[in-house]
Amino acid sequence: MTVRTRIAPSPTGFPHVGTAYIALFNLCYAKQHGGEFILRIEDTDQLRSTPESEQMILDSLRWLGLNWSEGPDVGGPHAPYRQSERMHIYKQYAEQLIEKGHAFYCFATAEELDQMRAEQQARGETPKYDGRGLKLSSEEVQQRLDAGEAHVIRMKVPEDGICKVNDLLRGEVEIPWAQVDMQVLLKTDGLPTYHLANVVDDHLMQITHVFRGEEWLPSAPKHQLLYQYFGWEMPVLGHMPLLRNPDKSKLSKRKNPTSINYYRDIGVLPEALLNYLARMGWSMPDEREVFTLADMIANFDIQRVSLGGPIFDVEKLNWLNGQWIKALTPAQLLDTILAWQGDRQKLEDIAAAIQPRIHLLSEAVNWAGFYFNHMPTLTAEQFESKKLSPEQVRQSLQFAIWRLEGMFTWNNDTVSQTLMDLANQMEIKLRDFMPAFFIAIAGSTSATPVMQAMVTIGPDLTFARLRHALDIVGAPSKKELKVWEKLNQQLKLPKNEANDTAE
Ligand code: GLU
Repeated sequence: MTVRTRIAPSPTGFPHVGTAYIALFNLCYAKQHGGEFILRIEDTDQLRSTPESEQMILDSLRWLGLNWSEGPDVGGPHAPYRQSERMHIYKQYAEQLIEKGHAFYCFATAEELDQMRAEQQARGETPKYDGRGLKLSSEEVQQRLDAGEAHVIRMKVPEDGICKVNDLLRGEVEIPWAQVDMQVLLKTDGLPTYHLANVVDDHLMQITHVFRGEEWLPSAPKHQLLYQYFGWEMPVLGHMPLLRNPDKSKLSKRKNPTSINYYRDIGVLPEALLNYLARMGWSMPDEREVFTLADMIANFDIQRVSLGGPIFDVEKLNWLNGQWIKALTPAQLLDTILAWQGDRQKLEDIAAAIQPRIHLLSEAVNWAGFYFNHMPTLTAEQFESKKLSPEQVRQSLQFAIWRLEGMFTWNNDTVSQTLMDLANQMEIKLRDFMPAFFIAIAGSTSATPVMQAMVTIGPDLTFARLRHALDIVGAPSKKELKVWEKLNQQLKLPKNEANDTAE
């Protein structure tokens, strides 16, 4: 048997360090066994998936050196590797389960299900699909199908008892069936959910081992049951511990930048980031701290993964990166720096921005410095404004982060429109609104135009700097966040509607 592992990212945002972490362990496992590591794009969520996000994920994994031998960009014997191009495949499998009596049609509308959940909650129960579709007679089902009524296909799940799942890292895990929902497999639009597409594709692509994040453990009973229903052999499962913030909470962008691009932009070497991710819950047999991907593959043993949540600590990553930098010759370091900032378009944009401001080339360093820096050094006093209250300054930064995060296209038009709309809706003049952004991004109000600079430095560094500024002026408390979230939404409504909601 050839070992085949995969990474199956959903392209719904920026490339997350957690994706690289999981990809790394899958790659090492496959390579150590002389097997194949493949990449499949799971874009069944058509509303949230974007081609831009997919491209960023592929680029950043390649930048790290995590190469796959089959995937949407390189093809392979099981192509296509993008689920949106495999949509014709899944329906027949859902129907197969209906024929075998393992799945059923459900015609309940969203309102009906909302009401069902509300009633369950009122009774103090955990909301869960109550199996109403199973109670319909086969004649009624046929009639309603013939009448073209909207429906989904759900899988049958035992009502009680315990499901035992074997996990390569955790041993036998027990999950009560009562906690497992009768999962929708095929949606009203005839498209599959993650669970169906994932199981079908892992089978068709002959995946033998699945290492994935711990957050998928609750889905394992459904998947195991689907493999049994189909009569297929299930890949070996291993659920990796989640990466955590230093305060032990799940790694989140509120507390730590989580985009691979951010680490690339601040000058972390790909080898160092991989080395760091390798040490998340894993160690070399000789406990050496600095090692390459090839070293890791040569010494890999999945059983050395420890399950206590590994802490993703940026300080430690910086230290490790320093070790990698120190190991370079000066000539190699120079090449590395030049390659890091070698994007000609970016350099030209910076040249264009500083051109009206300099008389001597030597002044370029001062004007352009902030484009290359990590974070400006900031004090809270810098943000004091004659026109705005401290709360308005804090809100403007937080609202801007939320709105910019929701943007798929990052260019001059979209960034400026977003900030101008926000200023307008907050009823703040642009000249009073902008200083906080100049300081957050450039460290000073006398700098090149800041909206353009945000475009040039890119979304990841922009968010990191805006968040850092917010920390300096006072990040919102949990309570404030709740109120502000509503306020930010209300501001977006046309004036009369906003008033209606406020009343
Ligand atoms: N598409 C899922 C994700 O984004 C894959 C989970 C799995 O590996 O089964 O993480």
